[in-house]
Amino acid sequence: MSTRVAVVTGGNKGIGLAIVRALCREFQGDVYLTARDVGRGQAAVASLSSEGLKSSFQQLDINDVDSISTAAAFFKEKYGGVDVLINNAAIAFKVADTTPFAVQAEETLKTNFFATRDVLTAFMPLIKAGGRVVNVSSFVSCRTLNQCSPELQQRFRSEDISEEELAGLMQRFVDKAKAGQHKQDGWPEMAYGVSKTGLTVLSMILARRLSKERPNDGILLNACCPGWVRTDMAGPNAPKSPEEGAVTPVYLALLPPGATEPHGKFVSEKEVQPW
Ligand code: NDP
Repeated sequence: MSTRVAVVTGGNKGIGLAIVRALCREFQGDVYLTARDVGRGQAAVASLSSEGLKSSFQQLDINDVDSISTAAAFFKEKYGGVDVLINNAAIAFKVADTTPFAVQAEETLKTNFFATRDVLTAFMPLIKAGGRVVNVSSFVSCRTLNQCSPELQQRFRSEDISEEELAGLMQRFVDKAKAGQHKQDGWPEMAYGVSKTGLTVLSMILARRLSKERPNDGILLNACCPGWVRTDMAGPNAPKSPEEGAVTPVYLALLPPGATEPHGKFVSEKEVQPW
């Protein structure tokens, strides 16, 4: 049997690094720490090595489609596919940031929704039978959902929303933000929240597609929240350590062979949450 492989995006720091650390200890196979910056990524691999943990590095900037396709081709060639994919990379503007909301909306949606979707588009065909896909979303995705208009909430909760419709709605948010009309159009003033609502809904869509198109492959795909975690993104006052934040993503990545659930859910503290 070929060597199993796990891939983590945004693995050079924060929760992503803690996920890689946990997988080095618990995953039976090769663990790839990926990062957009080669120097930061290789430094993180070296720091894990100094802890006695073996990971490998692959460059992956999720905003760069060439980087995505190079990485996907590498894993296909070397491993014949991917067993575990954790989409952890994301950005968030600080609350105090004075960048205009339209710019924040475009930049945040670009990385957290559209670029993560590009990674999934390239990697989903590579996910092997029995594979696990984890999209690191946020509890903010639920909060934002509940602040959308009834029309938007209905679409985001519906079982028949397509990936194209979802992408269209995410683009509509960006376009309306640029026109200063997002509130009239039913959106809250939360760029990060909308991006994560989109990621949670995308996870549900892709899970339904897996069940339909690959019903016998036993792949489980979920979105999750790591909790509120002390990282560069959330700051020093959050209650959880990065290691504690990694617990739910790693739990979903290591759901045992033959498990049939959770699948297509939003999971927090290892529990399926209402959507
Ligand atoms: P950090 O800001 O500490 O780390 C984010 C990571 O994503 C970094 O490695 C960063 O790389 C990487 N990244 C950003 N953009 C790209 C890109 N284009 N390509 C590749 N990598 C990229 O954040 P956290 O560790 O806190 O967040 C990890 C995940 O958890 C995110 O999805 C976040 O939204 C989510 N989350 C975090 C919470 C928290 O309380 N911390 C709460 C809920 C969800 P670089 O170093 O190069 O910038």
